[in-house]
Amino acid sequence: MPKTKICKECKKKFKTIRATYCSDACNRRCLRKTKAAKYSTDFHKLKFGLWLIGECKRAQTVEILTGVNLCELHSLWVTCKKYSGFNQEEWEVIRKYELSHISPVAHPQSIGLLHPDNLVIAPDYYNRKRGTRWNGVSGKWIMKYNLQTKLRVKQTDTIEAVSKKIQKFCGSSFTDLVESKTLSKSFIHKMKDKLIEHGVDVSGLSYEEIEKQFALHDSSKKYVLQSEDCHTVFIEECERLGVIYCIGNYHIDQFDQLHGEPVFVHSPTPECLLRNVVNDLLKPKYYGHMWSIDCQMELNGYAVLYPL
Ligand SMILES: [Zn+2]
Repeated sequence: MPKTKICKECKKKFKTIRATYCSDACNRRCLRKTKAAKYSTDFHKLKFGLWLIGECKRAQTVEILTGVNLCELHSLWVTCKKYSGFNQEEWEVIRKYELSHISPVAHPQSIGLLHPDNLVIAPDYYNRKRGTRWNGVSGKWIMKYNLQTKLRVKQTDTIEAVSKKIQKFCGSSFTDLVESKTLSKSFIHKMKDKLIEHGVDVSGLSYEEIEKQFALHDSSKKYVLQSEDCHTVFIEECERLGVIYCIGNYHIDQFDQLHGEPVFVHSPTPECLLRNVVNDLLKPKYYGHMWSIDCQMELNGYAVLYPL
């Protein structure tokens, strides 16, 4: 016999025999909220969370997340990992890509934002070689004299404290992230969970000891993730940043997000890549692209995206 109940989610009255929610939609909404609450409390245990916390510590402020859509940033971060590839058998990354800042973090007067428009997925060697060089106009940054004291992150701050600061600063962008994305635990926490399942007392164990114990207990399937070639990564990044949208014998009129102005891309041949002409006097700029798989050419390609 159905009775009248109050939906746990929307608080509306409905008739049911044993349901807690009035609809599937309410059930799903409640599950999403529960997941989001767990992600928020455990944000410092999640891989993406730890990375964000680390970046805020490095910049000593959460203001590097100014105007950042965290879902977009998360997607970019995942893509970068996917491009890098991974060989679990050998516990090593095959080819490494990094999220490289266009406007650098460590600059005397400014701090480059952790914003998708200020990041380029680049090979690690390019990122290293580039260091903190910057043309002063590309990307997104804030001036140091504009930084707010209350948003500062100190080296001595705990990861939990920085996590809370990030959540407060990002507001609805953070809620969107934890409600819509699936976020995985950091590797150390995954290892700990596995060991606890095996009845191992993990309290007080160092990272190395946990790793050793994990190797003894873990027999899960090993996997190999292929890394992406530099040529493909470069094209995808050009497209994402709006520098180009196709390769071929076309003149492409696009808005250049790096420089905040339109750019014409001239592609004489699709075989090799070279920066051809940059017209400094007459705007918009002219970039020439030719393609090559040669390493030096790859670097020239990235120099089109952002200066070395
Ligand atoms: Zn409901």
